[in-house]
Amino acid sequence: LLSKLPDVGTSIFAVMTQLAQECGAINLAQGFPDYDPPLALQQALARHATTSGHHQYAPMPGLLRLREAIAGKTARVYGVPAPDAATEITVTCGATEALYAVLAAVVHPGDEVLVLEPAYDLYGPAIRLQGGVPVYVPLSAADFRPDWDRVRASLTSSTRLVMLNSPHNPSGAVLTAEDLDQLAALLAGTDTLVLSDEVYEHMVFDGEPHRSVLRHPALRERAFVLSSFGKTYHATGWKMGYCVAPPALTAEVRRVHQFLTFAVSTPTQHALADMLETDSGHDEGLPAFYQHKRDLFRELLAGSRFELLPVPGGYFQLARYHQISADNDVTFARHLTREAGVAVVPVSAFYHHGHNTGLVRFCFAKQDSTLRAAAERLVGL
Ligand code: PMP
Ligand code: GLN
Repeated sequence: LLSKLPDVGTSIFAVMTQLAQECGAINLAQGFPDYDPPLALQQALARHATTSGHHQYAPMPGLLRLREAIAGKTARVYGVPAPDAATEITVTCGATEALYAVLAAVVHPGDEVLVLEPAYDLYGPAIRLQGGVPVYVPLSAADFRPDWDRVRASLTSSTRLVMLNSPHNPSGAVLTAEDLDQLAALLAGTDTLVLSDEVYEHMVFDGEPHRSVLRHPALRERAFVLSSFGKTYHATGWKMGYCVAPPALTAEVRRVHQFLTFAVSTPTQHALADMLETDSGHDEGLPAFYQHKRDLFRELLAGSRFELLPVPGGYFQLARYHQISADNDVTFARHLTREAGVAVVPVSAFYHHGHNTGLVRFCFAKQDSTLRAAAERLVGL
C-alpha cells in the first residue's frame, strides 16, 4: 500500500496514554481532565438519552436550538453581534472534525498553509492530506510569540490560509490585540483566510481577556473560529465542538461536514443546548478554576529541578529538564513515565522536524490530589 502519510506514526497523545496505562503512571501527558463534566450537564444527557425521538440524525449543521444557544453565548462572552445560527455556525465532532473540515474545504493541491510552530500534531498531516503545503514559521524560542516580520516574509500569492491557536498548545502563549492587528494588516487586500483554533478560549489567566478573532472585525470576515465543548465542559470524550464563520465560508465547511460525519450526536447536542440555555456561569468560572491548578502545580514543583516556563493560558505546563537529564525529550518522557511514574509529552512532537527540544509538557487539568501525587514523584528527581 502506498501510504499517504508514510512519515507519520501514531499520535503522541495515544502513544503516551497507552504507555502510562501499561506502567500504571499518573497521566499528565494527554490533555484531558480527570474530573467529570458539571452534574447538570450529565443529567441533561441522561434525560435526552432516554427521551423518545432524540435518537435519529440531527440536522446536518447541528440542532437549531444548539446553534441558537451558541450564538447567544458568543454574543455574551465576546460582546459582539450574535453570529447567525442559520448561516454562520456548524456543530462538529469536536474541534478535530472542524479543523479537518475547514482544511478539506479550502485547501487546494499546491496551496500553502502557514503554521506557527510548535503546533498541534493534527495540523501538518491534515494539510498534507489535502495536497496542501504546510509552511512552518517558528514561534519565538523565548516566549512562543509570533514574529510578524517572519510571517510577512513567508506569505506568498499561494498562501490560502493562516492557522492561529490561542491560547496555544503546547506553550500556553496567548495572542494580544496587537498581534491580531498585525496579522490583519498583513492580510489586507489578499484573499488569504484564517483558521483560529480557540479551544482553550476560557483558560486565560492573570486577568487578561481572550482575544478572540471573533472580536476583530477585519479578521472575523475571513476567519473560521473553532471551539470545543470538550475543553469547556470537561467532556473531551463527548467529541463535540463547533465552527463560527461568515456565511460563504460556513457554506464551504458544510459541504465537507455533510460527507464527513453528516451530523453529530443528537442527545448530546440537546444536553449542551440545555446547559447553554440555563447558563450558570460555568465558563466565567474557568479562568479562576484553571489558574488555581496552574499555580498549585507550579508551587508543588518549585522545589524540583524542573525549570518551569510561564503559562499565560491553556492547561499545559512546559518544563526544561536539563538539570535532571541529558536525554532527548522523547527518551526522557518515556523514562519519566516508566521510572518516575508520571507520563508527559515530549515537545518535539509539536514540530514537523521532530528535533529534540529539551522540553516536556505536563497537563494540569487534573484533580488537586492528582497534581500532588505527581509532584511527589517529580520533586526528588
Ligand atoms: N486543537 C487543539 C489546539 C487542541 O489542543 C485540541 C484538543 N487536544 C483540539 C484542537 C481538538 O479538540 P476536540 O477534542 O474538541 O476535538
Ligand atoms: N489535545 C489534547 C492534547 O494536546 C489531546 C487530544 C488527542 O488526544 N487527540 O493533549
